[in-house]
Amino acid sequence: MKDIAEAVASGVLPGRVWIYTNYDCNLACRYCLTQSSPTAPRRSLSRKRVLEIAHEAKDLGFTALGVTGGEPFLLRWMPEAVADLADLLPTVVNTNGALFTPRVLERMEVLADRDAAVQLSLDHPDPERNDALRAPDDHWRVQKAARALHAIGVRVRIATTADTLQGEALERLKSLVADLGVAEEDHVVRPVVRRGRAALESLGVPVTEADLPPELTITATGAYRSAFGPTVRNGRMDTDLLLTRTTRPLATPAALLLRLVTGMPRGQDARQGIR
Ligand code: SF4
Repeated sequence: MKDIAEAVASGVLPGRVWIYTNYDCNLACRYCLTQSSPTAPRRSLSRKRVLEIAHEAKDLGFTALGVTGGEPFLLRWMPEAVADLADLLPTVVNTNGALFTPRVLERMEVLADRDAAVQLSLDHPDPERNDALRAPDDHWRVQKAARALHAIGVRVRIATTADTLQGEALERLKSLVADLGVAEEDHVVRPVVRRGRAALESLGVPVTEADLPPELTITATGAYRSAFGPTVRNGRMDTDLLLTRTTRPLATPAALLLRLVTGMPRGQDARQGIR
């Protein structure tokens, strides 16, 4: 669709399409926007469907893909699927890094020579502060995963989700991230968004739809206007940022998002650093 390609090329529409592959997770972090946990419903997309979305996104003129959840690597086909996506468009996959056994790492080698990045979460330089938000030994596991991925040539990004991390603590985190072999531009620091479990725990910053980057986001249950849209609260999917339940063809939600964006005033996303 020419309109979408032009909107992406001119910066009117962000180029990345987010795909929520599943909602279950081996962890249950305190601020989790999707209320994920080992017992959360999976709400998954199939590998075939993920690839279809990626093909359509490319054809429409989008320029990048993001894979998130839940924990995407609970789906056994994930390493090879990310490789397939990266053959179409630059791809980043979010993960907690806890499932990278030697066998999975061997399969992750397919990403080494592709435009793919694995984004791990690390929230604080001190293990006890990080692990209190996420899970016991998470700090140690993330470091281990980052070093192992780096060693096999896979690009690693670190996402720090923190309410307040400044000064000396932030500097120590930056040093740790550099020590893991992660480039400065691959370290993202952003606030906790008060949705999902974070809202129940009164964590993070309250946001309105104008504060969230308008990125096309596809789940098993519909298309959303932001990657922060398909959150879960009290076990139910939020629908306030739902664009449409129709995700086939992808041109349908893409056109709806473009219409919204072109009539939308600028929000606070840049000021608050939400990304
Ligand atoms: S924040 Fe990420 S790692 Fe933590 S429970 Fe949610 S999906 Fe899992």
